[in-house]
Formats: sequence, C-alpha cells, structure tokens
Amino acid sequence: MTLVLPKSPSFRLDGKRALVTGASRGIGMGAAVALADAGAHVVLVARSADALAELVVAIQAAGGSAEACELDVTDTQAVNALVNEQPVFDILVNNAGINRPGPMSSMSEQDFDAVMNLNVRAAYFVAQAVAVRMQANPPGASSITRSIINTSSQMGHVGGVDRTVYCASKHAIEGISKAMAIELGPYNIRVNTVCPTFIKTPLTESTLADPERVDWILSKIKLPRLGEITDVMGPVVFLASDASGLITGSSLMVDGGWTAG
Ligand code: NAP
Repeated sequence: MTLVLPKSPSFRLDGKRALVTGASRGIGMGAAVALADAGAHVVLVARSADALAELVVAIQAAGGSAEACELDVTDTQAVNALVNEQPVFDILVNNAGINRPGPMSSMSEQDFDAVMNLNVRAAYFVAQAVAVRMQANPPGASSITRSIINTSSQMGHVGGVDRTVYCASKHAIEGISKAMAIELGPYNIRVNTVCPTFIKTPLTESTLADPERVDWILSKIKLPRLGEITDVMGPVVFLASDASGLITGSSLMVDGGWTAG
C-alpha cells in the first residue's frame, strides 16, 4: 500500500479579496503588501489618498492587485457604504490605530476619546460591517474559511509604561475578538488578533527616539532586537490563509518573547 500523504494547507490567497485599514504606512502597509504577494486582491483604506495611490502603483508593479479607498474609519456611515458597495471580503485586517503615550495623570478626556474612538469603536464597526456581509454571502468551495484579523498588541495582554489608555483599547480588542469568534464560528468566519511588540513605524518614532525607552524595550524582548514591519507580514498571511483553518478566538503573539515572562 502506498502511504497517502496529508495535503499541506495552502498559504496562498489567490482569488480572495482583502480589506486592510490603516494601509497607508506602517504595519497596515506591510500587511497589504504581504496579502497581495500571496495572491489576494487588496482594498487599501486610510485617510492619506496620495500614500494609498503610491502603494497601489507599487503593488501593481510588483505583480499584485490592489485598489485604494480614502476613508476615515471613524465615519461608520462611510465604512458601511464602502463595505456594501464592494463585493464581499474574505479577509479583513482591521489595523488602523493610534497611541497617545503619557503618564495616566496627564491623560485628558480628549486623549482617552481619540484612542478609544479609533482603536475600539471604529475597529468594532468596521468588523461588524464586514462580518455582516460575510454572513449574508457564504463562501464558495474555493474559500474554506474567512478571516478577520484585528491588529491588537502585546499591550492587549500586559501593561506598559505610559500606556494606560492604549492598553485599555488593546485589551478591549482582545475581548471583542474572542466574543466575535464565538458568534461567527458557525459561519466559518475566523476571528483572531495579531499582537506585535514595538515595531519600527511612524507610530513608535517618538518612543524609539528615547534611549531610556529603547533600553526598557530591549530588556523585555527576549530576542535581541526591535520589531520590523516585515515581522508582522508572515503572521498576517498565516492568519488570513487556510493554513490557520482551525484557529479562531486566538492571539498570535509577534512579540519577540516579551510576554513569555
Ligand atoms: P502608523 O504607522 O501610525 O499607521 C497607522 C495607520 O492607521 C496609517 O495608515 C493611518 O493612515 C491609519 N489611520 C489612522 N487614523 C485613521 C482613521 N481615522 N481612518 C483610517 N485610517 C486611519 O501605525 P502602526 O505602527 O503601523 O500601527 C498599526 C496598528 O498596529 C495600530 O492598531 C497599532 O496600535 C498596532 N500596533 C503597532 C505597534 C508598533 O509598535 N508599531 C505594536 C503593536 C500594535 P492615515 O493617517 O493616512 O489615515
């Protein structure tokens, strides 16, 4: 008898459609490039139209497929309009986010509201809009599961210096993701978070310009370096693809071992 080998699940995303928010730079840009490299058509969302247009051209030049949509994701009406005018998405990378680092004593109501409004409220309603369309349009045979990836953080699992509000927002995303996974599982929609450590992007520029903070960060990351945008690209493709077909309600730590202890 010939041994019948199990078929390796594919990391490819050919024929799938992905929506990436916060795609104009940083981790979102990396996620969009990675998904396009894996074969998905990627719809790029952010407020900076020029940066998005430049990224579309670059992805297309590299052989990928992408289109830009200038949008403020805190505008729920505009989000719903976009999601409903597009063919159903198979993948969402719910990534737009901000931080207002500072000691708890100096956080204003405006800081609190700005972080929560984008990192929690907008992320919730983007996921809701995409999930409702997914539920109403079950995938064909070519697509085993659909995938919602919420960009959380290691700060969704631990506390961090000058990050009370940011930690609150990312812990909230962890809870939302688990509860969404329970509700959407019967529809073959997976919901997970990706949880990076400090990655070199415009968001972390000010923190990483402070040598004391960098010393603190490097004392917590077990691998001897900071994170790069490329470190998040593989994990996003994994969570988007059928290679992670039984993974839902989970958090993928991309933290160089920060939360290991
Ligand atoms: P970034 O470089 O500042 O990029 C943020 C992205 O979000 C930009 O594309 C920005 O585009 C977009 N955005 C901001 N407000 C928006 C709005 N109202 N509507 C639509 N798009 C909006 O930040 P990043 O470091 O890549 O962070 C991306 C995500 O990863 C965030 O959720 C962040 O919390 C998380 N994260 C980052 C790190 C890190 O160390 N960098 C670590 C863990 C988690 P426009 O300005 O053009 O709108």
